[in-house]
Amino acid sequence: MTPRRPTRQVSFGDARTGIVRVGGGIPARDGSPTTPAPVSVQTMTAGYTHDVGACVAEINRLVAAGADVVRVAVPEKKDTDALREIIPQVQVPIVADVHFHFRRALEAVEAGAHKIRLNPGNIQDRAEVIEVIRACKARSLPIRVGVNEGSIIERKDKQKRLVELGKVFSEHKNGYLLAIMIAKLEEYLDIFYEQDFHDIVISAKSMDAALVIDAYTEISKRFDHPLHLGVTHAGPKETGTIRSVAALGGLLINGVGDTIRISYANDPIYEVQDGLELLYSLGLRERIGVDLIACPTCGRIQVDLFTLIQDVRKHLAKTITVPMKVAVMGCIVNGPGEAEGADVAVFAGDRRGIIYVQGQRVANVPEPEILDRLLAECVAFQDRVRRGEAKLGEKKVEIVPPDPIGELGSGFEKIAHGSVERAPRPTPLTVKNS
Ligand code: SF4
Repeated sequence: MTPRRPTRQVSFGDARTGIVRVGGGIPARDGSPTTPAPVSVQTMTAGYTHDVGACVAEINRLVAAGADVVRVAVPEKKDTDALREIIPQVQVPIVADVHFHFRRALEAVEAGAHKIRLNPGNIQDRAEVIEVIRACKARSLPIRVGVNEGSIIERKDKQKRLVELGKVFSEHKNGYLLAIMIAKLEEYLDIFYEQDFHDIVISAKSMDAALVIDAYTEISKRFDHPLHLGVTHAGPKETGTIRSVAALGGLLINGVGDTIRISYANDPIYEVQDGLELLYSLGLRERIGVDLIACPTCGRIQVDLFTLIQDVRKHLAKTITVPMKVAVMGCIVNGPGEAEGADVAVFAGDRRGIIYVQGQRVANVPEPEILDRLLAECVAFQDRVRRGEAKLGEKKVEIVPPDPIGELGSGFEKIAHGSVERAPRPTPLTVKNS
């Protein structure tokens, strides 16, 4: 992992919502030091903002899932009007996403939005942009300048600049598009700098993961503002996950990115869950809840492990808030090595499971009892951690594989040679979607 790139820092929110900081590492304009804030996770509501009750409910659901910031669309005045009722009812900074009409931005500022997003592709009039900048400056609100692939800004020297940038980026797969995005940002941000406005976050999204990586990498070298990472129109979750993780993960590994939004054509709750999991996986956020390790299963499996894993995941998500590591392994052959470091682990065998808590074997139960016993051990372990009687990750699972025909009833060779009668195979494995 490359250390985070130092940036200016922006902050927004209020006493009720808490203050969210984005970026950091470069001293503030008054000379005071800043330290990089944890990478935050954003999402955007899918419903109508003017439907106040539904919008508040959606925001609260996203916050419960872990969203640090929530953005809402404000295409009409009834949407900016609704912000006056919505904002006092939620516990998270709200970003107003403005397209096409700068008055929506002014109205959102007046209504109490904590941050504004402008798209240089559709709010281009210089005087209007200046009006929004001044309104935000008066209230110390940051602005995200979100340039998306394909939107064009008119500028006198556009062609000349594009030719220059085109040469710079000619080696890139999407060099011309990259040149346009950089040119747009340069021109747009000049307006902000002329107004001595620097509370800026930049995004430069595309649905092409390679272009996203190139664009943000280039922008990170040219501007010192914090970066909001995202792949726009990433598609349904099934494919959008890979597209998003390829782009965002690649950038974060290289120290680029200060806040992220994964975007799916699906319930935005998945954007929050997957965004957090990406940051947890890279060690960029301290995990809340269980870190679940599970074997992919193979021909050694003798229990319905897929079902067990899904059930464990679903139940632990509701009950465990300490970052304990839990391993659900299909057998004793590779399980112990792969579960190394787990606080609570189960190793399945021939329709049984042995459960360990920090290296101590606590149970050997038949398959129907594995789930309940494992959950009970996880809750009991969490209670001990909270009381200070146990420490997370303190002891490793150290298990000497048992005799092949030991407690777990493994021992395929002996079974195959007919020297041991094997219990009937369980019903076929199933995969449950939750
Ligand atoms: S833990 Fe056992 S069952 Fe699971 S993949 Fe590894 S060898 Fe196969």
